[in-house]
Amino acid sequence: MKCFKHPKLDAVGVCKECGEGICTKCAVEIGKKLYCKDDADKVFGEKKAQAAPAVTTVTVTPAVTKAPQKNASAMKNSVLGQSSAAWILCIIGLVGAFPPICFGLGLILGYSALTKATDNLDVFSQRDVIVCGIGALANLALLGVWAFQMVDLISAFS
Ligand SMILES: [Zn+2]
Ligand SMILES: [Zn+2]
Repeated sequence: MKCFKHPKLDAVGVCKECGEGICTKCAVEIGKKLYCKDDADKVFGEKKAQAAPAVTTVTVTPAVTKAPQKNASAMKNSVLGQSSAAWILCIIGLVGAFPPICFGLGLILGYSALTKATDNLDVFSQRDVIVCGIGALANLALLGVWAFQMVDLISAFS
């Protein structure tokens, strides 16, 4: 339902007097009941004039539709963060610091980022998925190369 005065805003309740949908800007709470501003003035105008009334503009929870978007962007940030971490681990491993640990950890992070990105294609662009995918693959490939080198090294000594 939309607000009867603001057709673009979602109604947060219904006026007890006229039954119209009202948004946060229009809603007035009097004695735990919601009224539109006009009716709040009309119905309680006299009381208001007499003594300090308990009229407060309602501060209602922000539009419900915003919540999933916030979660989606937080999720997106964490996945892209995982993917960047995978890339960084890949580079650290290439430089020569603990290659198996870096590539292994990078592979796990990259793979986890990739699966989350492919599971949420409405949130991630094709480019994000590719970046996550290459991050995971690069670590997998480097781990493979490292393993082959180790096998070579060991066979050279034996
Ligand atoms: Zn009303
Ligand atoms: Zn309104």
